[in-house]
Parts: sequence; C-alpha cells; structure tokens
Amino acid sequence: MRLLEERIVKDGEVKEGGILKVGAFLNQQMDVALFEEMAKEFRRLFDGCGVNKILTIEASGIGIACMTAQAFGCPALFAKKGRTSNLSADVYTAQVESFTHGGVSEIMVSKDYLGPGDRVLIVDDFLANGAALNGLIKLVRDSGATLVGAGIAIEKAFQPGGDLIRASGVRVESLARIKSMSPEGGIEFC
Ligand code: 5GP
Repeated sequence: MRLLEERIVKDGEVKEGGILKVGAFLNQQMDVALFEEMAKEFRRLFDGCGVNKILTIEASGIGIACMTAQAFGCPALFAKKGRTSNLSADVYTAQVESFTHGGVSEIMVSKDYLGPGDRVLIVDDFLANGAALNGLIKLVRDSGATLVGAGIAIEKAFQPGGDLIRASGVRVESLARIKSMSPEGGIEFC
C-alpha cells in the first residue's frame, strides 16, 4: 500500500536491532485517517469472506482493529496480555514471546467473545518472527472459530514469521513488506 510505505519512509525511524519505530503515526500517536485507508484496504482484500470479528492483541493493534471492525461492520476484540481481575475465568490462552520487550507473556481472550460461530480476521501492526500472530491463531483455533486470515500493517519480511505462517496455510496480507532496513541504509520494500 503506497500510502503506508510513503509514511514509513517519511516518519519511520530505523533503530538498531531490527526495530522500526513508528510512534509518530502507528503506535503511540495514531494517524486515524491513515488507519481508515488501511482498514478499507483490509476490507477490499478480505471482502466476501464473511468476516464477523476482528481480533488483535493489546496494545498497539487495537486502533487498527477498531477501524477495521468499522469497515467490516463487526466487533473488534483484543487479546489481553496477563490475567486481570475483570476477565472471566473462562478464557482461551496462548504463550507469546515478545519481540520488542523480550520475555514470554500469556495472552488470553474470554470464551464469551470468541466461538464456533465466528469468522475471524486477525489484524496487527507488525509481523516479525510471528510469535504474536501464532498466539492469536492458537486462540482462534482453540475457540472453534474459523480463521479467515491475517491483515498486517507492516511485515518485516527479512524475519521468518510471514513465510512460516503462510506455509502453514494461513492467508496473510501485509500492507507494507520491508525487504531490508538499517539505520545507515534506510528502508527497502519488497
Ligand atoms: P513477532 O511476534 O511477529 O515477532 O512481532 C510482532 C509484535 O512485536 C507486534 O505485535 C509488534 O507490536 C511488535 N514488533 C515487532 N517488530 C516491531 C518493530 O520493528 N517495531 C515496533 N514498533 N513493534 C514491533
């Protein structure tokens, strides 16, 4: 998606260790007009697939998920990281290794909100090694819902997650795919 690629080049910062900082428009500060265009693109890509639920993981996927849910006319649902007192005891869980923070966290979603009647589109801001996406896929599979696919804003295609998850048969659509990046050399898209 040209608009997103241009924005990454303009406002993204490549950090050491393969991290792209996009706090100016995608993470801490959110360009909602850009999100709306991304959501329309996800709608175009997954049109006719019967999507009736958008699933993401807190926190940075939530904004994109909300806009995407509006485009599909369905609810947005996010997996929580860590057990909180207001979450029902009946939950689906998965272990996710954090790419940006290190360490493993348990993610969970209430059984009240995900089940066999659902046709789920997973969305997230980044796809890197695939841990977050694999965790979300497990929640969907455990719930008996149908996984329609995954819509990712930025895929770091130089990391293995996207290829591995596609090879497992899951449809993954990424709006921007980064082939390589470095603080000195800038960003090259696929
Ligand atoms: P994965 O689980 O695929 O290794 O990494 C995806 C998750 O890590 C995303 O949910 C995202 O929040 C975070 N992440 C991975 N790489 C980056 C990055 O380069 N920049 C930012 N801002 N977040 C990232």
